[in-house]
Amino acid sequence: MAEKKKFAMYWAASCGGCEIAVLNIGEKILDVDANFDIVFWPCAADFKYKDVEGYPDGYIDLCLFNGAIRTSENEEIAHLLRQKSKVLVAFGSCAYEGCIPALANLTTKEAIFRTAYLESPSTDNSDGVLPQPTTQVAEGELHIPEFYETVKSLDQVVPVDYYIPGCPPEPHQIAAVIDAIIQGAELPPPGSIIGAGTVAVCEECPLEKHEKTIARFYRPYEKRPEPGVCLLEQGIVCLGPATRSGCGAKCPQVGMGCRGCYGPLDGVEDQGAKILSAIASVVDVGAPGEDEAEMERKIEEVMATLADPAGTFYRFSLAHSLLRRARANGGGDGKGGAA
Ligand code: SF4
Ligand code: SF4
Repeated sequence: MAEKKKFAMYWAASCGGCEIAVLNIGEKILDVDANFDIVFWPCAADFKYKDVEGYPDGYIDLCLFNGAIRTSENEEIAHLLRQKSKVLVAFGSCAYEGCIPALANLTTKEAIFRTAYLESPSTDNSDGVLPQPTTQVAEGELHIPEFYETVKSLDQVVPVDYYIPGCPPEPHQIAAVIDAIIQGAELPPPGSIIGAGTVAVCEECPLEKHEKTIARFYRPYEKRPEPGVCLLEQGIVCLGPATRSGCGAKCPQVGMGCRGCYGPLDGVEDQGAKILSAIASVVDVGAPGEDEAEMERKIEEVMATLADPAGTFYRFSLAHSLLRRARANGGGDGKGGAA
């Protein structure tokens, strides 16, 4: 019997949804078991870092790494798994682009610690103790991972072979990638996005599209969308025009604008800038020939109805964007100051 391929999965800075998405592939999980030896998957079985350190280099055939790089531990394990894996996949939006954890790049480590350990109403910390990487106790020295100032994507710390986007990736896309690997199908060149489409979410969205002119934006709770009609033209922010397809336009079909979790399209370096320019082109500026000052006033009025632009346009992609983070000495007020 041919030796099984070796499979690993790791959870860095993320919510765990990517782990659930793998289990969500249903009976396909049996194919994973039939074709792979699981050699490291701390969420599913008891493995130790020492186990991985003992493997020869390149021992793991496929490693799905989910989660962003937030701590020294995340970075250390990224290097270890890179060394031990033939194919290292940035699995899900956090590993690919930083995702929600990287929204912390709009503020600073100091502000995060202040909020979490000193100022939150539920915290009882009258001595003002903050976590330290090294602490002396009676029994000796305790070490915990260092919390970095800036959240990074996986490819900002180690070379990555493939990216599977999504928050989390859709189970049918995961199953297709696993099938291709089991069947020994030729994979695209290293550096490619796999398990996703190549066009924009709008292309697979069945909602009816007309010419758009937006006179104000609505948050999802402020408006019940007209069924069957493009959300963006109803003023509900939707990142569909600037987001890679592959999910089947899941969110717009249930009345929620696309949040952008499948990341930018090929050739787009900055998803936030792309959607900003798409939205700017449909803002209602009045009739042609309108006075310029009046146009500017209208643009400002419309844009003032758009809540949290940085968090909306860079919700998933901040670490991987051209901005990467707010200036530590300029945006670190702990209130999510824009980059
Ligand atoms: S609802 Fe969103 S994804 Fe659908 S067509 Fe409109 S902008 Fe595109
Ligand atoms: S519609 Fe947008 S946010 Fe929703 S799953 Fe698809 S890519 Fe992600």
